[in-house]
Amino acid sequence: MKKQTMLDNALANFDRAAALLKDEFCPDMIEKLRHPKERSEISLTPQFSDGKIHYISAFVVKHSDAVGPCKGGIRMAPNVTLDDVTALAMEMTWKCALIGVPFGGGKSGIVADSSKLTADDKQVVVRSFTRNAHRHIHPMIYVPAPDMGTSERDMGYIKDTISYSLGYATTQGSYVTGKPVILGGIPGRREATGRGVAVAAAEALKKIGLNMKGAKVIVQGFGNVGSISAVVMAEMGAVVVGVSDEFAAIYNPAGLDLPAVLAHVARTGKLTGAPSGKEIAHGDLLEMPCDVLAPCATANQITGANADRIKARVIAEGANGPTSPEADEILHNKGVFIIPDILCNAGGVFVSYLEYTQETQQEQMTGEEVRVRLEQRMKDRFELVYQTATQRKWQMRDAAMYLGVKNVCTALVARGTLP
Ligand code: NAD
Repeated sequence: MKKQTMLDNALANFDRAAALLKDEFCPDMIEKLRHPKERSEISLTPQFSDGKIHYISAFVVKHSDAVGPCKGGIRMAPNVTLDDVTALAMEMTWKCALIGVPFGGGKSGIVADSSKLTADDKQVVVRSFTRNAHRHIHPMIYVPAPDMGTSERDMGYIKDTISYSLGYATTQGSYVTGKPVILGGIPGRREATGRGVAVAAAEALKKIGLNMKGAKVIVQGFGNVGSISAVVMAEMGAVVVGVSDEFAAIYNPAGLDLPAVLAHVARTGKLTGAPSGKEIAHGDLLEMPCDVLAPCATANQITGANADRIKARVIAEGANGPTSPEADEILHNKGVFIIPDILCNAGGVFVSYLEYTQETQQEQMTGEEVRVRLEQRMKDRFELVYQTATQRKWQMRDAAMYLGVKNVCTALVARGTLP
């Protein structure tokens, strides 16, 4: 049987939403949203510190700008494909519309293994991408941000490359979000996605009569999103019993010593050998008993092959596309509460929007203001999706997709028809 790709899954989710919307919008117009507005493949030829010129593929996909300029992170991974980036751009369109920010959906990919690049060579790759993708990157066209394999530091390099190519030390308007605060970034952006995941997970637990205090949590992926969501859930009173990264999965049913684990990762860059937990197989960690399982790594981690053995009560999708449509069905029938990615990890793009407006208006927001607005927006949109799902007897993912796609269709109708 053909392996389902991220794009297959994104289109399957879209088709379910399209079916729910068929009586509200003209099917031709909904069909328009199946197709990205633009997919570009770019060849980067950076010169590394070994003196050699290396060939690296990169992609920029703008899925839809019906609601506003395309927004979406840059993924640096050795196996990222143009179709993956298309799926992720499409999901950004629904995510922005659902969380209520005036952006469309976009995404970039750079085919490179960031863990194998030196810091200098990675900087060269990011600057090479920026120079070659410059025509796409603009506050009114496409505004990138961090995603897997890229970070705040890389967003600083992007701002620097663009501003100096324009001839100034800074830019007018926000060309990139997720930057260091000193370069026009916003306090709390680095934590925003993980904090949003924790807030959404706490709301889901309440709906099933549980509480974050004492809840057992397992987090897959210990990068930006995973580590922060683990920390924030622990601050809310949860007991983090398992975490994993690409190198190791560690588990302790009595709870991990999270500060010690974080210190180990800060020192060594990986979870291998981390204190307070026993190393187990990656796949086994997902199947351990817990109240919240937060997949915060990559796509297609919970599939028809393992969904049956998942014991979590709530799945909080920090990653994009971690659950396949087949697994969705199995988990739904088991009564697992799934917080779909376009809702669960939307805190990052919401705070990116605050950064964008702050930079456009040359204002500064405090970390506290950002945190309060993020938590409020996550709770409001969670409730909206939950009420829609409950009233219509739909799965949370269908309700979230319905609301997101509906907002984009409404924008298309408001714009009228362009040939
Ligand atoms: P990151 O690069 O900071 O971290 C990724 C983590 O996942 C690393 O710890 C890596 O070792 C681990 N990992 C990779 N493959 C794994 C596997 N098979 N099993 C266990 N761990 C594995 O990336 P990030 O920014 O934290 O992004 C993680 C996910 O969250 C991605 O799906 C991304 O699209 C999504 N996301 C990120 C943001 C953001 O603001 N950074 C926003 C929305 C969604």
